Amino acid sequence: MEKVIIVRYAEIHLKGKNRGYFEHIFCVNLEKALKGLRHELRRTSGRYLVAAFDEADAEEICTRISRVFGVHSYSKGYRVPNDLDGILEAALRICPASGTFKVDTHRADKRYPMTSPQLNAEIGARLLDAHPSLRVDVHTPEHVVYLDIREDGTALVFGSFEEGVGGMPVGTSSKGVLLISGGIDSPVAGYMMAKRGMEVEYLHFHSYPYTNEQARDKVIELARILSRYTGGEFVSTVKVTHIQEEIHKKCAAELNVTLLRRFMFRIAECVARKKGAKCLITGESLGQVASQTIEGITSSNAVVTLPVLRPLIGFDKEEIILRAKKIGTFETSVLPYEDCCTVFLPEFPAIKPKLSFIEEEEAKLDVDALVQEALDSLERFPLH
Ligand code: ATP
Ligand code: MG
Repeated sequence: MEKVIIVRYAEIHLKGKNRGYFEHIFCVNLEKALKGLRHELRRTSGRYLVAAFDEADAEEICTRISRVFGVHSYSKGYRVPNDLDGILEAALRICPASGTFKVDTHRADKRYPMTSPQLNAEIGARLLDAHPSLRVDVHTPEHVVYLDIREDGTALVFGSFEEGVGGMPVGTSSKGVLLISGGIDSPVAGYMMAKRGMEVEYLHFHSYPYTNEQARDKVIELARILSRYTGGEFVSTVKVTHIQEEIHKKCAAELNVTLLRRFMFRIAECVARKKGAKCLITGESLGQVASQTIEGITSSNAVVTLPVLRPLIGFDKEEIILRAKKIGTFETSVLPYEDCCTVFLPEFPAIKPKLSFIEEEEAKLDVDALVQEALDSLERFPLH
């Protein structure tokens, strides 16, 4: 009898001809998640088995598996020879000695000499023999013993299905640059795109010395928490202080935020091209703040050609907060910090800025030189 963790995958089966490619990436991601823990990862038809692990690591392995996109569900259980004695031995470990129970069989191997109902009855009867205070309840049992008869002469025996995060394996939907602030929204936006298989590069803008190192460390911590789901090794940071000072000096105050955002997008696009990323990702949500209007979005989209994904566009703040709590970024996001967007914040930011006015004001600046200076300040910070 062998202790195993059974991993079932989600949408991958939909992908027809690409299936092999998706499964390969899924497998690589599982290996990455389990790095540093002794284990063996095996492929069986339609499932993965984690075996040869230390019992003390079992919970940690399950926690890590629970964060891998593409995992539909997972179960702790046993792999045994598919004869009745082998199955019973595992079933006795799964099923407590009292209470109500049922046996639930699935046969991948249709040549198995007993049908599923026969197996349910036989293993059920043997469990009752072993533990007379058990009672059968097929409708609302306290315990279920699941039998999964595989095609290779083995059976998987387990007691529950744990829900995985679903989604698609990270790396199957190309790469995007996430504009990550220290706030609540952008980490959730990154999570959502990674859930759809996108690899995420982290890019943060700071206004040192107006923003401090704690603000930066907070962003690194957020990316570190996110990277449990999304992968990723670094946060890149870029300084935009000189841009903000120039805008403050030369342009209409109500456009401060609008103009800064256009610079952020230009810089992010340059970073994306260098890293082979095919889009930008932001945490914007329609109407949430003055710059997140359709006019604001139009003005920042106008300076880039890469698509800008805004997975939170239709979400309420409450919904975003719920997700941030589930992901585990919320507590870090709400720590007090100074974001570069709050430096030089005008009293009345333009809510519906006209593109012609924006361009007029921006013409007072040497855009290319400012962007280049920002790119020259790029630093990378490891997450681990
Ligand atoms: P968040 O909660 O993500 O900070 P927000 O509600 O504060 O968002 P804004 O400040 O308008 O909204 O920022 C909108 C988006 O712009 C953010 O979600 C993020 O993607 C990006 N952004 C804002 N500030 C920064 C920054 N300092 N570095 C990188 N990206 C930023
Ligand atoms: Mg913010």
